[in-house]
Amino acid sequence: MSYHKVERDNDGRPIGLTPIAPEDVTVVRDGATGEIAGYLVHPPPTPTVAAVTLTEFLLARIAEDEAAAKEAGGNVWTEQSSGVLDTGEWPDGVHALGDSRVTRFIAEHDPVRVLAECDAKRRIIELHASLPQPPMLRAVGNVCAECSSSFEDGHVEGVAWPCDTLRLLALPYVDHPDYRKEWADGMR
Ligand SMILES: [Zn+2]
Repeated sequence: MSYHKVERDNDGRPIGLTPIAPEDVTVVRDGATGEIAGYLVHPPPTPTVAAVTLTEFLLARIAEDEAAAKEAGGNVWTEQSSGVLDTGEWPDGVHALGDSRVTRFIAEHDPVRVLAECDAKRRIIELHASLPQPPMLRAVGNVCAECSSSFEDGHVEGVAWPCDTLRLLALPYVDHPDYRKEWADGMR
């Protein structure tokens, strides 16, 4: 049995037939007579938005942090004098904040520091990559390339991915709408 949907133009005139897979069609029969009363075509499955992985989540946050650091100049900031921050831009880069604790803190966390931390975090994420589950390990799922161990006799100790290292990296972003609660579950 083959099914087709009649395509019509704006005036309702048939202009062609589109085949419909038989498994997408339910035949509706009249309850009393058993005669075919019509056909129900199942709507195509709506594509579900693939859940973002922890790696994708972290890389997106890092990219945002990196963009902000570059936007802010990507450079070294210093405390020019007590309570005065120098962001290295002349002549507008001198900001009298009046509190040396604040200016020292901001200077310590300048764009150069943020860019270095973005780089370090990317390298950590690269190390803790997701590997397909080794065949000898059942029901573990993917394992962490860095945290899992394999031994000469072929014995593998798999640490499920995402490992605690990646979960911890994501914790500062816990309030982000894309953060998934399960990333905090089962952390040691
Ligand atoms: Zn790991």
